[in-house]
Amino acid sequence: MRRRRALRYLLLAPLLASGAAWRPGVSLAQAQGRCDASGLSKQERQQRDALEYVDRSPHPRQTCGNCMHLQPTPAKNGGPCKACSVLPGPVHMEGWCTAWVARIGGAG
Ligand code: SF4
Repeated sequence: MRRRRALRYLLLAPLLASGAAWRPGVSLAQAQGRCDASGLSKQERQQRDALEYVDRSPHPRQTCGNCMHLQPTPAKNGGPCKACSVLPGPVHMEGWCTAWVARIGGAG
């Protein structure tokens, strides 16, 4: 029992440290400012991994928010998570992958 409690704390520690507020209906990933891709199939996750998708771009001037592949309609889980024409599942406005292409008229 003690071990289970410790494990639970370890899983929640990043959320608590970030000061994020958990609300019912919000996944841990969303509360941590990430997009919840937990519903994707193994193949879909592999597609994302193959393009090295991350929720926080390592390139300050290249993000999903200024990529031509970002879809104007929000993904199911809303907020900063949108849909992409290249990757399955939600992508974060601050995310990035190797398929990034500057949106015409956007920064980059
Ligand atoms: S192609 Fe990559 S960088 Fe562009 S919106 Fe999709 S996930 Fe983001």
